[in-house]
Amino acid sequence: MATLMKDVVLKESHAKELLLQKHVDYIASYGVKDEYEYCMTEYLRMSGIYWGLTAIELMGNLDRMNKQEILDFIKMCQDESGGLSASIGHDPHMLYTLSGVQGRLDAINVEKAVEFVLSCMNFDGGFGSRPGSESHAGLIYCCVGVLSITGYLHKLDADLLGWWLCERQLPSGGLNGRPEKLPDVCYSWWVLASLCMLGRLHWIKRDALISFVLACQDTETGGFSDRPGDLPDPFHTLFGLAALSLLGFSSVKPVNPTYCMPQYVIERLELKPQKLSV
Ligand code: ZN
Repeated sequence: MATLMKDVVLKESHAKELLLQKHVDYIASYGVKDEYEYCMTEYLRMSGIYWGLTAIELMGNLDRMNKQEILDFIKMCQDESGGLSASIGHDPHMLYTLSGVQGRLDAINVEKAVEFVLSCMNFDGGFGSRPGSESHAGLIYCCVGVLSITGYLHKLDADLLGWWLCERQLPSGGLNGRPEKLPDVCYSWWVLASLCMLGRLHWIKRDALISFVLACQDTETGGFSDRPGDLPDPFHTLFGLAALSLLGFSSVKPVNPTYCMPQYVIERLELKPQKLSV
């Protein structure tokens, strides 16, 4: 169905090296300045802290961040219910509570959660947001992640799902989230991390994907955008760097595919997410 395929064309002049120092400067200065974009994304700020901190730590430059300022901010986001909000004065929300504390598996009914996840599996091996919904790479990452954390990955049809994930790769080398969509750097992460948990990372065309991810760097300001030529942001910067880590870039620290946190942190916390082998 080549006629339906949406894709981008990489320019011959696109960046071919990882501009690590520019990305460190981009993340370190983001949010310090009172930028328009920063004001516009107040509701995302707790997630933004996670994206920025993880990205800069993967680049080995955590000391460029103001630790006390960040800790003070997180403390101010916790209200009397114990929940954390996206920013000071906002309502607490589960997503930001997760971003703030990352964890607490003992607090939920694991079997029920796994049962629900498996009920969302489709005939193509993928997962949607609800039973019967279209397969989507971002949701597949969430589902595979839940099964990895809970140790139920063997319940999946890993070959079928791995095949669907590999079909997300377009001629540009980039990956899309579902058929007939444009490629996007964040899907490099959702797809690649899922393939990694399934033990099928080598099924992807590595060099082509690296070219696409490197082409999404902003060579002037630093940072990665969703696709070449767009504006960079911390979200795509983290997932671009994390994808390059999984693809074996030694200048980026090893990342854990299940948690999208530095591998050494996962080991220090003694977390043991499941990973299949072929
Ligand atoms: Zn994206």
